[in-house]
Amino acid sequence: MCKHQPLSCIIPPYMNLKLANNEKFEKKLLAAHVSSFTLDAQIRGRRKAFTRLNPQSKEIVALAALKKPAKKVAVSREVYTAGNKQVQPGTLVRKEGQDVVKDKDVNNVYDAAGYTWDFYYSLFGRNSIDNKGLKLIQTVHYGKKYDNAFWDGQQMIYGDGDGKIFDSFTLDVDIIGHELTHGVVQYETNLVYQDQSGALNESLADIFGSMIKQRVLNQDAASADWLIGENVLRGKQYALRSLKAPGTAYKNHPDLGTDPQPAHMSGYTNDPFDNGGVHLNSGITNHAFYLACTEVGGYSWEKVGKVWYAAMCDKKGVQPTASFLDFKNATLTHADKLFKSENTVSKAIKKAWDSVGVE
Ligand SMILES: [Zn+2]
Repeated sequence: MCKHQPLSCIIPPYMNLKLANNEKFEKKLLAAHVSSFTLDAQIRGRRKAFTRLNPQSKEIVALAALKKPAKKVAVSREVYTAGNKQVQPGTLVRKEGQDVVKDKDVNNVYDAAGYTWDFYYSLFGRNSIDNKGLKLIQTVHYGKKYDNAFWDGQQMIYGDGDGKIFDSFTLDVDIIGHELTHGVVQYETNLVYQDQSGALNESLADIFGSMIKQRVLNQDAASADWLIGENVLRGKQYALRSLKAPGTAYKNHPDLGTDPQPAHMSGYTNDPFDNGGVHLNSGITNHAFYLACTEVGGYSWEKVGKVWYAAMCDKKGVQPTASFLDFKNATLTHADKLFKSENTVSKAIKKAWDSVGVE
């Protein structure tokens, strides 16, 4: 397709016309060529192109036009402040379309929610968390020096951090993407927040949070840092988690010690204080995603990310109490479906899961 450089197309229109009128093609293939042809024609401003199609191909164009959504799809955001009290949503400070305000935390979460919405909509056609245009409601300055951020099932909440160990939880796009992805999971596979399904829930939030940041920074899998929360946890050498090297996000931190996340099933832990280790064992599945992305190359969201999204939304293949192995199997099924002609994708994904001991 030559959307971006209409003057340097390698396939000339006469070839596309032949393909778009080929009666020997099966329906799907024909539809693909008709769509290529009409897109090219549209780009080149050739309104007359349609008249040159035969009736069967004209019908495909007409049906495609009918399928187009009539309603305008757009992000809808509201940011509130709790004024350091434990109230929600609090006082409205900025809503959709309004200019930046003085409060940086408000602007941070407004922007990051926009990046997150755009990530899901542009890449997967998903309209907000529930895929029905849910308004993204966020509250900043929750509580006094509150050291956390969360999705409460209906909205996002961010603390200011204590100012010593943690800065404001609005500083990292990946954290905001992480929390909003918990919302997406809730509306899809609804993974139970306990043991392996809980670790998968945490891991999906990290993985999509990281991809959202990578897309904002235009980083491919090889150049991304794969860190979560490097601004929120104070100190240049520290971050909350690393998908590239779980267990190294912070080392010998004066207050936190060393990142305890395992990167392999041999380090699997049943921490009862963390719902069976949901924030710990997520390191194993996070690392599998990282390995698959770097093996395939390019942007994480182009291939492996697409497979993970399909698995995250696969309510049949991934039950609420799914295990790591169930999720692995779902990714392999979707890799085969999505990238039939490129078995390098499913091979890389299988290799990645095997390397972290999910076999
Ligand atoms: Zn989380």
